[in-house]
Amino acid sequence: MEYVVNGLYILAFSLFIYGLMGLTGPKTAVRGNQIAAVGMFIAVAATLISIRDADAWNWVVIVVGLAVGIALGVPPALRTKMTAMPQLVALFNGVGGGTVALIAYAEFLDSSGFTNFHGQEPTAHIVVASLFAAIIGSISFWGSVIAFLKLQETLPGRPIGFGKAQQPINGVLLVGAVALSVIIGIKAISPEAATSQWWIVGVLVLAGVLGLMVVLPIGGADMPVVISLLNALTGLSAAAAGLALDNQAMIVAGMIVGASGSILTNLMAKAMNRSIPAIVAGGFGGDGGTTGGSASDEGRTVKATSAADAAIQMAYANQVIVVPGYGLAVAQAQHAVKDMAKLLEDKGVAVKYAIHPVAGRMPGHMNVLLAEADVEYDAMKEMDDINDEFARTDVTLVIGANDVTNPAAREDSSSPIYGMPILNVDQSKSTIVLKRGMNSGFAGIENPLFFAQNTSMLFGDAKKMVGEVTEELKAL
Ligand code: NDP
Repeated sequence: MEYVVNGLYILAFSLFIYGLMGLTGPKTAVRGNQIAAVGMFIAVAATLISIRDADAWNWVVIVVGLAVGIALGVPPALRTKMTAMPQLVALFNGVGGGTVALIAYAEFLDSSGFTNFHGQEPTAHIVVASLFAAIIGSISFWGSVIAFLKLQETLPGRPIGFGKAQQPINGVLLVGAVALSVIIGIKAISPEAATSQWWIVGVLVLAGVLGLMVVLPIGGADMPVVISLLNALTGLSAAAAGLALDNQAMIVAGMIVGASGSILTNLMAKAMNRSIPAIVAGGFGGDGGTTGGSASDEGRTVKATSAADAAIQMAYANQVIVVPGYGLAVAQAQHAVKDMAKLLEDKGVAVKYAIHPVAGRMPGHMNVLLAEADVEYDAMKEMDDINDEFARTDVTLVIGANDVTNPAAREDSSSPIYGMPILNVDQSKSTIVLKRGMNSGFAGIENPLFFAQNTSMLFGDAKKMVGEVTEELKAL
């Protein structure tokens, strides 16, 4: 039977990797996801086969656990809107980390404080892997809970921290968790010493508080990198738990998540021009003091425009660049935008789309939305490929984007997002910003673009206003 289980695990891993390959393009992504899900189903089935001799009570616990997991997981996965996906991902990721921490705790109890591992002397790799899983799993769970609450806007997106005391506090928590783990490890290999379960509870609590303390001070624009970092940590902790349990499925799946999460974290940090240690050290993001604002902040005024005027400007342009952002996703305006672009193209206007790597609320968010509306891939331009074009573009239409267009990131060294690369929309000959009001974006900071000479604001819901512009274009 062991051969069957191992064979099923190998089939499951192959499907994970094949599914992951599908995620490299929007056209194959859904299928890739389905293939990986089949792989996970097979891995779960193989694990259940491998524990077929478990007693009846254990089977009751397993079946109830599966039922509760399905009941809690499926409805939100089906119902959650695209724009709330990052929260859901943060939550699911956190649940993974929490599970790993609980596995480490259960193994500790089950093996009398790691002194008797499934009836055998524990090896160093088992004890170290279990304790690593406990620390990283707990950090990942509590960090993800804070990320969820921030994305859900239950907690403010701005940094919440203890200022200069933050790093020393985090240092003490980390040293404390590692020191307790070392004591547990030493006790595990010295036969006479039994370890109380409070030691491992101490490790989990210290690591959990560290998870909270690391994510709370991370604000605004750094959140995407943090979510991806937590995801990588969950993968690594699952792989460590797999090593301790000698479960190949957990090792491989954990390593795939850990490796892909690490690559994504690195790419996102590069795109944001940030170093990962600097992000974890905190202090990047909005200070919350400048959210919102009126149409005449500090005596500056904004120019409001109308759908008719926007239509005229764009109809007589040689090139229009559309900059999609989170607001476009909220309004589900992608099909309306595609219809508007089609009319412009029929009038001989070149239409391109400028995609910022962290526009929206998840990596690739804008690409997926636009692909849904059948926008050609060639028309979607990455930031580095299009940034030089803004200066020779007649009209740039910013739809529901804010932080990713904020020139303060380029010019104002006191800005919390200083150094983050942005789309240079302010260099366009004319910039029209379509949004409902003067609210700030995710980073919670004011955008000087709205007050610039060559900017006019088209106020309203993205879908409704793009529809109105399209009607005006038809009449021209
Ligand atoms: P922002 O969050 O900066 O701004 C979105 C703007 O859309 C708001 O200012 C809002 O203004 C407007 N808006 C909201 N609803 C509508 C609507 N129905 N119609 C028209 N406008 C609307 O978005 P960006 O895409 O520019 O930037 C993304 C931000 O999110 C960055 O700070 C990024 O770091 C962060 N982030 C990104 C993640 C990712 O992986 N991509 C993950 C987590 C966070 P108003 O209310 O006035 O209409």
